[in-house]
Amino acid sequence: MLSYQIKFPHPELHYVEVELSIETPDNKWMEMYMPVWTPGSYMIREFSRHLDNLIVQNKDGQFVDCHKYSKNIWRFYSQYSRHIVKYRIYANDLTVRTNHVDIDHALLNGAGVFLAVKGYEQKTHQVIIWPHKNWKEISCTLPHNENKWIRTAENYDLLVDSPIEIGSHKIISFDAGGIPHELAIVGLSNGDNSKLIEHLKAIIDKEVDLFGHPHPCEKYVFIIHHTDNIYGGLEHLNSSVNMVPRWDYFPRDKYLRTISLLSHEYFHLWNIKRIRPVELGPFDYMKENYTRQLWAIEGITSYYDDYFVYLAGVSSLDEYLKIIADNISNVVNTPGNTVQSLGESSFDAWIKYYRGHENTHNNQVSYYSKGATVAIALNFLIMHQTEGEKSLDDVMRALYEMYLIRPNQGYSEEELLQICEEVAGVCLRSFFEKYIFGVEPLNYSEYFEYAGLSLKEEVYQDLDFGWILEEKGNSFWVSKIDNGSSAANGGINARDEILALNGYRMTSQWRRSLHTYKVGDELDILVSRSGIVKSFKIEIQSPIKKSFVISRKEGISDKQQKILSKWSKI
Ligand SMILES: [Zn+2]
Repeated sequence: MLSYQIKFPHPELHYVEVELSIETPDNKWMEMYMPVWTPGSYMIREFSRHLDNLIVQNKDGQFVDCHKYSKNIWRFYSQYSRHIVKYRIYANDLTVRTNHVDIDHALLNGAGVFLAVKGYEQKTHQVIIWPHKNWKEISCTLPHNENKWIRTAENYDLLVDSPIEIGSHKIISFDAGGIPHELAIVGLSNGDNSKLIEHLKAIIDKEVDLFGHPHPCEKYVFIIHHTDNIYGGLEHLNSSVNMVPRWDYFPRDKYLRTISLLSHEYFHLWNIKRIRPVELGPFDYMKENYTRQLWAIEGITSYYDDYFVYLAGVSSLDEYLKIIADNISNVVNTPGNTVQSLGESSFDAWIKYYRGHENTHNNQVSYYSKGATVAIALNFLIMHQTEGEKSLDDVMRALYEMYLIRPNQGYSEEELLQICEEVAGVCLRSFFEKYIFGVEPLNYSEYFEYAGLSLKEEVYQDLDFGWILEEKGNSFWVSKIDNGSSAANGGINARDEILALNGYRMTSQWRRSLHTYKVGDELDILVSRSGIVKSFKIEIQSPIKKSFVISRKEGISDKQQKILSKWSKI
């Protein structure tokens, strides 16, 4: 067995102190490593950069030579039955995937805290926590006996997949989907907890119903951090870590975004934590784990997150249709939509998705946003082909049935296509090749038509240059430029500071001043580029951004009505 003791003698310095006790064989080289990434967040994060002061002692307390072999691997020669490895982790990065320790709390994500011992990954890993004196609460799904500060993981994967929140947070328990749940709420917010729980219960029941089996967990924990302005979540086998801006429970659109995040992470209990692409398990913690199927994990989950918020009665059909339409607008207005396929976006997540820059929108597309739009199109296509009898829900159920039969295997690209085809009863290879592994534009309205819904395109009325400006005090900086826009063609660069527009100093009213011009007019633009003032001429272009509205059509056929009723439950 491996046993980690976790201590926080000076949380104000943001350090976690770790003592790892290993039962070791005689006369053998031992190797320890720290993962370079954490599952669910597909980027190399080099967690070992936060580790220092590593020493190894034998059972009598004598120091043992330990060599660093690579950026994240350490080796020592064992001549004793037990060794203690001591090290510190600097933890001052508050995100869902990293570690944060301060005087108020500790959020520990295992990949960046626990050194793995090569060859010991399948052994039991015990964690003994010595909380700071002011910390009375712990939220973590690893089991414990009478002492809640001692937790046990069956193996290293489970240890990494079980985040730990320690501090003085608020814990609220409730039952849903046939199992106990816990909200671990860190920090104040403008949320109404009783309303939140009522909505979560309804969402959870609907998600459990979709898969048609008992709940896959014994207990589930939502760790929710109320933040200044960080938004995001990370799924785990029996829990999730969520960061929500603390005032985002109001107004309505913010609340729907917040509850949708929790719905999203919960849906991952099935879609990725159990149903998964073959490439994502068992994890190789030492390097990138490439797959072209992140769209199926994140895109399909992004379709279902808002869908379940709607099915649970939290949002109205009109609100839900607006969310879908806005997402389609977002995808269609991203120039990278025609450059990068969903398959490529998935494969290159490691080097692209998490490393956005000023040109990202021109050559990349999000496997979340576009994946959700393709998922809903696929859903309506399946419903259309089966006379409303089957849908994407049946694909998810079939994938879960396959998981229950062969839980350790995962599905290949070909198996996912086959299952979709079996449910739809038609060949879908060309749909996959065009819209998932290719960049052919998807005619969304055709798919919404199957459900008697009209997807209408509206064009922005504002004149534009195709740039995004960031306002800092009284200055205006170009953060992004669309390829092919008049700003790009006129020579404006990202990171230019716009000083004046046609002889007028830039102010926050600049967009209103465009109303005195018409498409085709040429304007003088004065910029500061790296401190040098330059002037350019750019032409006002017709609005090129699109906006979509989805509404119910009148006079639809019986088949369309059947599909709409089955999907919307109205
Ligand atoms: Zn997700």
